[in-house]
Amino acid sequence: MTEELFREDATLLECTASVTAADERGVQLDRTVFYPLGGGQAGDAGVLRLADGREIAVADTRKAPATDSAPAGVLHVLTDPAEAALLAPGTPVTARIDGARRQAHRRFHTATHLLCALVPHPVDGCSITAGYARLDFHMTEPLDKETLNAGIARLVAGAHPVRQRWITEAELDANPQLVRSMSVQPPRSESGLGRIRLLEIEGVDLQPCGGTHVANTAEVGAVIVTKIEKKSAATRRVVLGFAEPA
Ligand SMILES: [Zn+2]
Repeated sequence: MTEELFREDATLLECTASVTAADERGVQLDRTVFYPLGGGQAGDAGVLRLADGREIAVADTRKAPATDSAPAGVLHVLTDPAEAALLAPGTPVTARIDGARRQAHRRFHTATHLLCALVPHPVDGCSITAGYARLDFHMTEPLDKETLNAGIARLVAGAHPVRQRWITEAELDANPQLVRSMSVQPPRSESGLGRIRLLEIEGVDLQPCGGTHVANTAEVGAVIVTKIEKKSAATRRVVLGFAEPA
């Protein structure tokens, strides 16, 4: 089990932690600021710093599946898998993410929520990286790039607060109006006792989401639609990019 600090605070760049497992597949910690690939959002990269100052490069982050002996966790994938030998269980480290990569993920991820608000159709697929983001909408109507760009610019200029909160499935069941107002329906656990993380962009969008976002739409900045593709008869793909040079 890894304490997922990024779920509560997407601005955290580093934390102290202790190694719980390490092998050629990657390293697990008791707590981390590294977001693992999931929900369409790419994993973080960064470094694990040892007490003597040595830095071990983390190329990517994935979810570690549960095993017979350990619950699911977060797997820090090392650039050089052989360096796992330096990280015996119990080793203290400072885990630090690549802040520029995270900030790009936060801006693009929040921008995809703005797109969801502008395009009221179900989402078929989603990919968020540091260089671009794309959303596939299940729809047959054409989309207009200039109209979408004007919509994104309006929502960014509107400086809408972005908030997250946890809700129990029982609370959701007691509030059908809340469920109806969501642009994406929440997943349900078999037990019916799960908690769901809701992401609300005030007055704009509400949906279950576990990713990392900016705190206000103003922080999304200059994000524009770079391409609209007809992927299939019933799929329109919208690609987002940064308007400023990288
Ligand atoms: Zn999200």
